[in-house]
Amino acid sequence: MKAVAFSYQAPGSLADALARLGAGSDIAKTMGGGQSLGPMLNLRLTRPDTVVDIARLPELREVSVTSDCVRIGACVTHAQIEDGVFEPLRGTMLQAVAGGIAYRAIRNRGTVGGSLAHADPAADWVVTMTALGAQVEIASAAETRMVPMDGFMIGAYTTVLEDGELIAAVRIPPASADTRWGYQKLCRKTGEFAEASCAAYFDASRRFARIVLGALDGPPVVLRELTRAVAAQGAAALTVQAVDQAIASAAPDKDAIDCKLCRTVVTRCVTQMLN
Ligand SMILES: Cc1cc2nc3c(=O)[nH]c(=O)nc-3n(C[C@H](O)[C@H](O)[C@H](O)COP(=O)(O)OP(=O)(O)OC[C@H]3O[C@@H](n4cnc5c(N)ncnc54)[C@H](O)[C@@H]3O)c2cc1C
Repeated sequence: MKAVAFSYQAPGSLADALARLGAGSDIAKTMGGGQSLGPMLNLRLTRPDTVVDIARLPELREVSVTSDCVRIGACVTHAQIEDGVFEPLRGTMLQAVAGGIAYRAIRNRGTVGGSLAHADPAADWVVTMTALGAQVEIASAAETRMVPMDGFMIGAYTTVLEDGELIAAVRIPPASADTRWGYQKLCRKTGEFAEASCAAYFDASRRFARIVLGALDGPPVVLRELTRAVAAQGAAALTVQAVDQAIASAAPDKDAIDCKLCRTVVTRCVTQMLN
């Protein structure tokens, strides 16, 4: 099957892209790396009149640091983060996570913004950015608004993005020197989407801690009770009973096999974070 005929547009600036997305006269789709949009077009799961390619817009390909955040442009690719192209991201959890996304060919083009907008529950950035307490910077021709990552994805492949909007950047709080993190996922084959995933991020100086379970039927879930227990008691809190209870309340519909996968991934992730 082939894509329906559409008008391909490659605007020269973010303002131009937003104007085209906001024109409102037809169905417009934003294209980042095209790694998910391409197959969706070919399978006719999406049938836009216009595809607005934002991948090369310089405004969306930068990483900058301010006093209260590290701002990652939406079109920064997984490979750029993996390769340590941006100094503020070198040696961070993000660099480690990026290297495990899909295959190198996909990482070369796939973007942070595209991954968040696509909102696959098994995607690595979705669970990682939730653990980090990231904010999604959403732009339209009219305004820019900030949405916390744990309110951005509202279901599988569903976000709060509205027509005419795109993700311009994701902002993460700067890490303190005593930040600890863990990230684990279980995949059938290297390079495939996760069957179970977990991200843990503890920043003692900021008194911020999150253990997040991903690859669920919907958005990732913060395991709040388990986070509190691990913050208070460390490894002693990581009992089979406590982990299973956390999983059962986050994902009550999981069968026994999936629960076991989740228990393995959570236990490994928190252990990695604590060691
Ligand atoms: C075989 C395969 C294996 C994969 N394995 C993994 C994996 O293990 N882990 C993982 O996390 N991901 C995986 N991916 C997904 C991949 O990493 C990309 O992140 C993903 O394809 C989307 O990024 P993209 O930039 O290519 O977005 P696109 O394909 O260009 O777009 C995806 C969707 O997001 C929208 N969009 C794109 N950019 C924006 C924006 N800035 N603002 C608003 N909307 C936007 C598009 O309109 C479209 O609906 C895999 C993909 C493939 C094909």
